[in-house]
Amino acid sequence: MSSVLSASDSEQEIVSRNPATGEAIGVVRLHSSSEVTSAVEAARDAFATWKESTFSERARIVMSAREVIISEMDDIAALITNEVGKPMAEAISTEIVPALDLMQYFARSAKDMLKPKKIDIGLTALMGRTSRIIYRPLGVVGIIPAWNYPFTIPIGEAAMALMAGNTVVIKPSELTPLVGMRIAEIFRKAGLPENVLQVITGDGSTGAAMVEAKPDKIMFTGSVATGKKVAQAAAKNLVPYVLELGGKDPMVVFADANLENAADAAVWGAFCNSGQTCASVERLYVEESIADEFTAMIVERTKRLRQGLGADESTDIGSMISENQLAIVESHVNSFRQEGAEILTGGRRNPAFTGSFFEPTVITGAVNSMRGMREETFGPTLPICRFNTEDEAVALANDTEFGLCASVWSSDLHKARRVAERIEAGTVTINEVMYTHGISQTPWGGVKNSGVGRTHGDEGLKELTSAQHIHINHFGFIPDVWWLPYSPKALKAFKALAKYFASGSLIKASLVAPTFLKRLFELRKKRK
Ligand code: NDP
Repeated sequence: MSSVLSASDSEQEIVSRNPATGEAIGVVRLHSSSEVTSAVEAARDAFATWKESTFSERARIVMSAREVIISEMDDIAALITNEVGKPMAEAISTEIVPALDLMQYFARSAKDMLKPKKIDIGLTALMGRTSRIIYRPLGVVGIIPAWNYPFTIPIGEAAMALMAGNTVVIKPSELTPLVGMRIAEIFRKAGLPENVLQVITGDGSTGAAMVEAKPDKIMFTGSVATGKKVAQAAAKNLVPYVLELGGKDPMVVFADANLENAADAAVWGAFCNSGQTCASVERLYVEESIADEFTAMIVERTKRLRQGLGADESTDIGSMISENQLAIVESHVNSFRQEGAEILTGGRRNPAFTGSFFEPTVITGAVNSMRGMREETFGPTLPICRFNTEDEAVALANDTEFGLCASVWSSDLHKARRVAERIEAGTVTINEVMYTHGISQTPWGGVKNSGVGRTHGDEGLKELTSAQHIHINHFGFIPDVWWLPYSPKALKAFKALAKYFASGSLIKASLVAPTFLKRLFELRKKRK
């Protein structure tokens, strides 16, 4: 719904609109490539000081930012609702709560998580060597988020990057620039020094300029198509990246599951944020013996959902982000119809509203060959497919280019775990659905086309650091047997290394002692 306006020949602006009403809610700058480059340079200058800050100084600012969010919670939630269209309830439960939790967790734990780590170097330690890893900040982290969780994703990644000692430049989506700017304001109020975190508004070209400006890491969230473009552009300068991309998450429900809970979870998992969640339930596989009963439970629950303006406190399902996104959903639903599936409820834009509202839609008779089962829909649709055996369920769940999340529902936890471990996805939840992005201690990321790298958890924090190896030779007065010059004795010592030392066995390694000593004497003698 946002649009680009020319304010003058050299300056362009983006008008942000409420997708539920079409109303303009703010205007921001469309920054030029040179402004993006300057922002990255300013962030690099700020890094020189910020990297020297202590963990407690960083934590104090992140915790102050939390306080700002808490004191302005209603206003921030209203802004998210107005710019994305999601209900206020979700702006708080799925954006603000996880952000606050992540901020306190990394503020309190980053020091411990990034403390230097001693490495067990095996038999090399017998030569008086030690090794440890220190986790250095990278420099400037460029964050390019999607519009669907415009608060929790960038602020969470920014808080982690800052705690690791990096400076940050965020390029919010052109559809949610005001939420992005609010993040900058929160950190400014928290006392973050200038240029340690900047928000540069703009569109896709601004995102591309950010990658070209050579930050030290790109944290990208978005579609597979743009993710590939980012990867290609980043590769030109060997800029490392994390890509958090799309999903087509399966939910597998066995007959012995708690069906009441599974039905509630399926409805929330498919329709929360109007289905515009990377980890939405996009494919529901139900065991044949309960498929009719379970489908009826889902339809009944879906018909009870109240669609409306996000600001209305009793709204369950808000509007979609844009007409473009709604058109994709419409086209998938039409494909389902044409390919022989049946729409049980919903299936059309909601005529009660002028904005981008699509009714929550339940579809039966879906099979994996249908377009709506293969491409990411990213809207409020829940296609249901049936299976008969465990093997069939696994094969259907894995029959996709994506691998972000999946869920398995059964009261037999052995079976559920067995199935979960066979599903190709970054996260598989058992008797639970979609929410683990909200647990900042756990890693988040996909396999296959769902992405590269991880955010959150220990793995996510370490993505924002460079692991530097510090190796010490405590016997610095003894030469190494592998140094120059070579000789027949050297060759003998190296063969002993190959046969005995490299075995990893202490007993075998002791056999190298005689050849080693001879070689050492030889090296000493040659020095004189
Ligand atoms: P896009 O790929 O269209 O955009 C993502 C971000 O990239 C936006 O900020 C966009 O800016 C920017 N961008 C666009 N073009 C370029 C470019 N050439 N170089 C650099 N940046 C660019 O995705 P959507 O915004 O439509 O987001 C929806 C997708 O995100 C879905 O596929 C969803 O599954 C995925 N997603 C994945 C998550 C995960 O954790 N795996 C979480 C959330 C969403 P602008 O919007 O201004 O054009």
